[in-house]
Amino acid sequence: MASQRHVMVGDVQVGGGAPVVVQTMTKTETANLGATMDQIRRVADAGADLVRVAVPRDKDVEALKTIVRDSPIPVIADIHFNHTLALKAIEAGAHCVRLNPGNIGGPEKVAEVAQLANARGVPMRIGVNSGSLPKHLHALERENSVEALVTAGVEFVGLMERLDFTNFKVSIKSTNVPNTIAANRLLSERIPYPLHLGITEAGTKWSGSLKSAVGLGTLLADGIGDTIRISLSTFHAEEEVKVAWEILKALKLRERGPVLIACPTCGRLQFDMDTVVADIEQRLEAYEDPVEVAVLGCAVNGIGEASHADFGITGAKNEGLIFSRGKPLKKVPQEQLVDELFKEIDKYAQTKRIDVDAAEQAAGAEWLQRIEDENAGELTPERLAKLEAEKARADSAAIDEALAAPIRLDETASPTDGRRFSRA
Ligand code: SF4
Repeated sequence: MASQRHVMVGDVQVGGGAPVVVQTMTKTETANLGATMDQIRRVADAGADLVRVAVPRDKDVEALKTIVRDSPIPVIADIHFNHTLALKAIEAGAHCVRLNPGNIGGPEKVAEVAQLANARGVPMRIGVNSGSLPKHLHALERENSVEALVTAGVEFVGLMERLDFTNFKVSIKSTNVPNTIAANRLLSERIPYPLHLGITEAGTKWSGSLKSAVGLGTLLADGIGDTIRISLSTFHAEEEVKVAWEILKALKLRERGPVLIACPTCGRLQFDMDTVVADIEQRLEAYEDPVEVAVLGCAVNGIGEASHADFGITGAKNEGLIFSRGKPLKKVPQEQLVDELFKEIDKYAQTKRIDVDAAEQAAGAEWLQRIEDENAGELTPERLAKLEAEKARADSAAIDEALAAPIRLDETASPTDGRRFSRA
């Protein structure tokens, strides 16, 4: 369930029903101002709502003052072990401080940070990872690692509440995807505070994106989670932001920029789909409108399941078709297909209208019909899926009809006779 409470990190609301917030962390040495600010601008351009920077030394606190001033998005200071740095980060203007109350030097040190954060109205993210559970929970961890993680989270929440500090969000993270899902489900039932979701050390761009999509996607689909960070082993933090957005877009939780859909290809493929899709995906990054763009590897199925796409292409050997919202727009030579597609997208980006030339549309429709007719008997993946769906619908209608018929009782049959009850 969505968190009841929220915090404000700068001007960004986290929790309380606000859209799920995308955050990432810079990979640069924070004190290297030029490199850090470059990366912050890149992640902000990629759609990060918040950015976290590591603050392990005094020189990072110094840099933080400038970073907070110049950053286009609110900045979270990431502190470990040293509560003095947390105090200095708040003084430096950090919009939020992330710390693990279990490794900052004891409750008195946490109290000092909480007192200053309260006075300055600065929220905190308090959290614990599976690798940094407090000692007294190690035995429970061996028995039930999920319960140990949740208990740590709940205990930290209790500590902050006793300190009269409630301006925080909570994270409990693990490298283990099922444990992360189970722990956050439990925690969301036990506390009203916003939850930060992440999979610790998820891995490379490929495996880490998949693990995060499964773990975070499952929780987000349940309505759990108020802010997400995808942790990937890459120096390019903007890649984490792009993955986060793909997860949110796939779940229809937020919209940002175009959505690309593409057929999986098969033996009927009529052009070099790998290159074309990669090219289109890259070119689409420059657009802001949430248009849906479809790429179909052949025109054998017509426009089919891509009929809802705002724009799409489908190819044949020498010619291809540009279509829009289920209707042909125009037929073009194969080698111009992608450029012509982007001319249409550009026109739409400027006018927010889709212009249709009736003659070109008719020629495109005729071409498409010819290809469909020539291949009418082909059992393509799409046609097989359609046949299966029609069969499932027919089966389910037959079952509904049978169940709706009145039940007749044959009193002459014995109670153990299967024919005693029958449908009319
Ligand atoms: S039949 Fe379907 S999957 Fe195969 S190339 Fe054509 S559109 Fe793609």
